[in-house]
Amino acid sequence: MHLETIPEKWDLVVVGGGVTGAGIFRLAAGMNLKVLLVEQKDFAWGTSSRSSKLIHGGLRYLKEGRLLLTRESVQERERLLEEAPGLVEPLEFLVPVYKDRGPGKWTLEAGLSLYDLIARKHRHQFLSKEEFLQLAPYVDQKLLIGGFCFFDARVDDARLVMRLINEAVQLGGCALNYTAATDIYRNAEGGVTGIRVEDTETGAARTLSTLAIINAGGIWAEKLHPPPQRDFHMRPLRGSHLVYPSRVLPVDRAISFIHPADGRAVFVIPWQGAVLVGTTDLDHENDLSIEPAAAEKEVIYLVRGLAKLFPSLDFSLKNCIASFAGVRPVVSSGDRAPSSEPRDHMIWTDKGLVTVTGGKMTIFRAMARDALKAAAPCLPPVEMNIDNEPIFAPLPVGPANNFGLSSDTWRYLYGRYGPHADTLVRNSSAEDLKPIPGTETLWAEIPFVAGKEQVRHLDDLLLRRVRIGLLTPGGGRAHIRRIKQLCRPVLPWSRKRWRQEIKRYLELWEHAHGLPPGLTEARPGRRPPSIFHFRAFLRHYYRKLF
Ligand SMILES: Cc1cc2nc3c(=O)[nH]c(=O)nc-3n(C[C@H](O)[C@H](O)[C@H](O)COP(=O)(O)OP(=O)(O)OC[C@H]3O[C@@H](n4cnc5c(N)ncnc54)[C@H](O)[C@@H]3O)c2cc1C
Repeated sequence: MHLETIPEKWDLVVVGGGVTGAGIFRLAAGMNLKVLLVEQKDFAWGTSSRSSKLIHGGLRYLKEGRLLLTRESVQERERLLEEAPGLVEPLEFLVPVYKDRGPGKWTLEAGLSLYDLIARKHRHQFLSKEEFLQLAPYVDQKLLIGGFCFFDARVDDARLVMRLINEAVQLGGCALNYTAATDIYRNAEGGVTGIRVEDTETGAARTLSTLAIINAGGIWAEKLHPPPQRDFHMRPLRGSHLVYPSRVLPVDRAISFIHPADGRAVFVIPWQGAVLVGTTDLDHENDLSIEPAAAEKEVIYLVRGLAKLFPSLDFSLKNCIASFAGVRPVVSSGDRAPSSEPRDHMIWTDKGLVTVTGGKMTIFRAMARDALKAAAPCLPPVEMNIDNEPIFAPLPVGPANNFGLSSDTWRYLYGRYGPHADTLVRNSSAEDLKPIPGTETLWAEIPFVAGKEQVRHLDDLLLRRVRIGLLTPGGGRAHIRRIKQLCRPVLPWSRKRWRQEIKRYLELWEHAHGLPPGLTEARPGRRPPSIFHFRAFLRHYYRKLF
């Protein structure tokens, strides 16, 4: 569908193609509403491709006494694990317990027992020092008492968004990327009557009529609809991650540890063949229209934490594959420390315009449900059986023909592409059904998503539809020739356009996913000084910053 050819009349327009907007879009399409979703950049371009990729209850919310948020999150985690196998998968976590630092054994035991109680499953366990070291042999052994293991879940955040969008489109919804909502029209009584939407690259614009608008614009939400309380504003809080190859950071379970600098929990998460380390939490003072990037001091903070937890491993930045940063949409009066800001979602309404923001990815369904309930008085009377219905098409018992793929690969593909996984496999050669080195991504996914998922730019393809821009050195530049060959039949780009796309992608990658300019010596793809070693690096920057 194109902006020029879409119908003029809608029941509902959803603004924002992150996980919140995509969840609303999917539920609304399931209710047979005539629904349009518009996203000003690319689907999942905002925070929803830059998270820690966890579907989790959030142990720290328990510590803060936010029982309701934890309960809702744990319940959502359990539902998603059941409804989206292959996309949302269980993840075992380890938490080391040390004699000289918190949290102590009994505090963790209490928190994890409550966590299990909410999920109605007893899954945590205390491990002796020896047992713990068998599972995490590289952690600091000095003063280690033992540790806990418990379960949460991990996801591919941008694929979660795409799966919701694809299934909503299958149900009759319409979604456009690179299309911004610029104005809202109202009648004499103030009720919403329409919306102006504009292609952000061509400038083509349409005025559409709609009964209601749900603004799921994340950190940008208040531009379209300011919060009613004057003291409350969106507070952009940045969180950054580093991506290491698993040969440098050999963990096959996630580890949560307390950072020595500020006592915050930091995660080490095995993800799609690489390992993510994050996150930070600080005010983001840069222009929100520019891709956020990890700052030098965040990289140092993360590497310092790693060095403390894994003293025998070498985290030279020359080994770091990439970094990424996202901005949390937090509604706040701004008087708390960043990590103490509540992560609940907020809704405000004004005669047919509903804004929903804040919250977290894990509870996207609850946010979508609350937003749709708030918009219901303006919508046609439809059955809202959204509390119990599954949000994803169920995984078939077994594919009619699995084309020789292992059951794990089939599960992975189904999780990402739902019922379309079958078409992907049927249209691919055995050679292309192999993974790209160092990742779980299959070559065959690239042309499939390039042809079917509104890819406008190379960065849409490599950073969000598949994630090799984060998982392979230098943003996957070594693979670009093969990617070009695979995509030629489905992307009608001239040679000149390919050259422009590659240039645009690599520049963007350097800015948002390479290491910050102050650390350029250690950028992947550049030769580091031979003596560049973590300790020397740390001494230098530690003096500079702390
Ligand atoms: C570092 C970090 C780690 C996190 N880790 C986790 C985690 O592990 N688990 C978890 O549950 N949560 C996590 N979160 C929180 C979670 O990522 C966010 O709550 C969630 O992604 C927000 O989704 P959203 O759709 O509301 O916003 P976004 O994903 O930002 O989407 C909003 C979209 O609206 C678009 N938009 C805005 N205005 C307009 C307009 N006028 N017209 C058209 N489009 C518009 C934007 O371009 C954007 O794409 C993390 C957040 C951060 C920053």
